[in-house]
Formats: sequence, structure tokens, C-alpha cells
Amino acid sequence: MRIVIIGAGFAGLYAALSAARLRDIQGVSPEKLEIALVAPEPTLVVRPRLYEPKPETLTAPLLDVLKAIDVVYMQGSAETIDAKSKFVGIVAAKGAKKELPYDRLIVATGSRLFRPNIPGLAEHGFSVDTLDDAVALDKHLHSLPGRPAVKGRDTVVVVGGGFTGIEAATEMAARLREIFGKNAKPRVIIVERSPAIAPDMGEGARPVIEDALRKLGVETRVEACIGSLDEAGVTLTSGERIEAETVVWAAGIRAAPLTQQVLAERDSFGRLLVDRDLRVPGAPGVFATGDAARAACDDEGNYALMSCQHATRMGAFAGNNAAAELLGVPTKHYHQKGYVTCLDLGEAGALFTTGWERNVKMIGDVAKKTKREINTVWIYPPQAERAVALASANPERVTDVTGFL
Ligand SMILES: Cc1cc2nc3c(=O)[nH]c(=O)nc-3n(C[C@H](O)[C@H](O)[C@H](O)COP(=O)(O)OP(=O)(O)OC[C@H]3O[C@@H](n4cnc5c(N)ncnc54)[C@H](O)[C@@H]3O)c2cc1C
Repeated sequence: MRIVIIGAGFAGLYAALSAARLRDIQGVSPEKLEIALVAPEPTLVVRPRLYEPKPETLTAPLLDVLKAIDVVYMQGSAETIDAKSKFVGIVAAKGAKKELPYDRLIVATGSRLFRPNIPGLAEHGFSVDTLDDAVALDKHLHSLPGRPAVKGRDTVVVVGGGFTGIEAATEMAARLREIFGKNAKPRVIIVERSPAIAPDMGEGARPVIEDALRKLGVETRVEACIGSLDEAGVTLTSGERIEAETVVWAAGIRAAPLTQQVLAERDSFGRLLVDRDLRVPGAPGVFATGDAARAACDDEGNYALMSCQHATRMGAFAGNNAAAELLGVPTKHYHQKGYVTCLDLGEAGALFTTGWERNVKMIGDVAKKTKREINTVWIYPPQAERAVALASANPERVTDVTGFL
């Protein structure tokens, strides 16, 4: 028997750990139940940190931990899913094609930035979405001091005033000062189409963010849309022109394209609709998890967000349930009651809220300490030690208020 997991992000990693944990508990050998993880690289890209400097350092190796739990790593990119015959078509290194049969499939392919068809965006827009994108932005920022000091050279426009845009913008002021020198006066402007920055944060938390933006000198344009981009700046649909040699697109996200290979219902983000056990109805043997799936996380009408916090736990349930079906033990409903937000606000600290109504619990330096711990410890893979690694993926593990522990 074989479980194939596609994707080595937070959801894919925890699916592998959790399936291996149940296999271990049931005393089944890796020869009898193979768990294979398919991804282009055997590394976890720490996406929640890609707005930081030195993005090339923001990955964690996975081969040792996968080896410690007897999960087979297969290098490649899945291109097709044949849910009828139950195999995945993989393109490996150097273009070699391979078909991999499965008994259970876990789609954990995550998400990608959505770039609408706006003139100039594909050529001139940067992002902090993938490792390559973040490295390209960092290189570009470091090239700025060597360019002619025209208006707009030291200006960064961040498009999108949601979580990613706010983190990218608030960190940017310090990043630019580091590059241009202490006395530089870089400009950072967030362009947001809603009437307020952080439209999802609610009335309690928003003033903390607005205060941080004021302190850092980050400007905002709300109810504003980008009409076009070119190498010297952006033109808003209102006609306003902003000279800026750096534009960071952080507006909108979609499930990765592989989800389209599964003939099933999807939401407007392209996420596969799944049942409480994270199965894809209508696609026998297929589970979806993390950013690739839309799942209810409680009985009160809340749905998992495209977040690392949800992807990790959803992964643990998907892996457990795929293995449970093959081993003939009961599956478990995915559930995740605790929900927190920890938003980095650069040199203005951070904001920590709890609950779906986002009650403010910590701000400033205290919240920043928690953010640092989340970003440098909690979201990293477990130690490559079998017992520790398997225990980290118990789907019923009680989480603390942060949702991570
Ligand atoms: C800048 C930024 C800041 C963020 N901040 C936070 C935060 O503060 N808190 C939070 O909770 N979340 C945050 N997020 C969101 C979080 O990173 C995602 O929700 C999380 O990464 C989702 O995990 P995942 O495993 O579903 O997908 P991903 O992490 O996207 O992993 C997907 C994996 O699938 C692989 N893959 C994709 N397609 C294929 C294919 N066809 N074949 C094989 N492999 C494939 C990819 O290579 C990757 O290994 C942030 C994201 C960004 C970009």
C-alpha cells in the first residue's frame, strides 16, 4: 500500500509525520505501507518569513527528518492526477516523467500569489510569495543605491494592505535604511483598495496597526487601485502617479494550480472543498489539506484560513486519516478551536490577537518577542529524531493559545 503526499510545505510535512506516526502506532512496517512525499526540493520554505532580509536563508532541510520516520522523498513536480486509475504523473529532475500509483493521495500543494492582468505587473512587480520572488526582491533592493538618484529610486509601493502587505511594508523601512544608510529617508506607501488598511482585522486591532504605520512613516492610499506599472512607478486608476522603482504585489492568493487536476468543487480561491475528515468528496482516495483545501475547523461556522497555523494542523489530520483508512482504524474529524493572529509591525513591534473576533492581547515589544519565537522556532520542522518527530504530529495534540504548540 502507498500514500502519496504532494507538497513539502507545512501541510505536506505534517501529513507525512502524522501518517508515519499512525503506521508506527499500528505496528505496520514501511514495506507494507509506503509513505512517499513528492516535492521539487527536500526543504521547507519558511514562507511566513519571506518579507524579512536575507530570504535565501529562510528554508529548513527535510531529508534527515523524513529519513528518521521512514518517509520516502521523491524529487519532482506533480503535473497530473488520475483519480480514476489512482496515479500521479510526476516530472522529475531533467524533465524525466514518471507515473506513481497510490492507494491514498494527499494534495498539499499550498498556494500562490494571484497576479491579475494589470499592464506592467508581470514585468515590474516584485513579491514576497516564493523563495525565488523574495530573493529577487532582495537583490533588487540592494541594487538601488547603485542607480541614479531619481525621484522614486528610494520609494517602495506595497500593493495590498492585508497581513502580507503590512508585514512587507513595516519591515521595509528598516531594510531600506540598512541598504541606503542611517540618514536615508526612504518612502514606503501601501496601496489598498478597501476603505481601510487591514480590512479583516476589525475595529479593536486596526488602531494598533495604524499607529505603527504612523510611527514608521509608512504612507497609505486607501480606496485606491493600481491601473498600471512601469519601471519608474505606478499609475492609480484615479490617475494619480507614484514614482517608485520598487513595487511589491501582495494582493490576493490562490490555491496552487494542481488542485485543478481533481474533478471536484472549489471555492473562489481555488481551494478544494473537503469533508470533516479532509477527504475530497467525489474523488475516492483523495485528501486535500493546508492552503489547497477549504475545511470547516469547528462546528460554529469557522473555516480554516490560508495560514501556516491551520496548514500544520490540517496536515496532521490529513496524514492520520489517509493512513487510518488503509490500516482499518477510525478517522478523526479535523478541528481547531484556537485561532490567533501575530502580525509583525517592523520596528514598531508586533500585534497579537486571539479569537476570530481578534481581541488584542499583546502589542509592541512583548508581542514582537512572541512573533520572533513563532518565526524562528515554532514553525520550523521538528528534530530529526524519530520519537520526537512522530510525537510532534499527533493530530489530537492540545494546542495552547497560540495555536502552534
Ligand atoms: C510573506 C508571507 C507571510 C505569511 N505570514 C504568515 C503568518 O504570519 N502566519 C501564518 O499562519 N501564515 C502566514 N503565511 C501563510 C503561510 O505561509 C501559508 O498559509 C502556508 O505556507 C501554507 O502551507 P501549505 O503547506 O499549505 O503550503 P505551502 O507552504 O505553500 O507549501 C506547498 C508545497 O507544495 C509544493 N508544490 C506545489 N505544487 C506542487 C506540485 N505540482 N508538485 C509537487 N509539489 C508541489 C511546493 O513546492 C511546497 O513545497 C504567510 C505567507 C507569506 C507568503
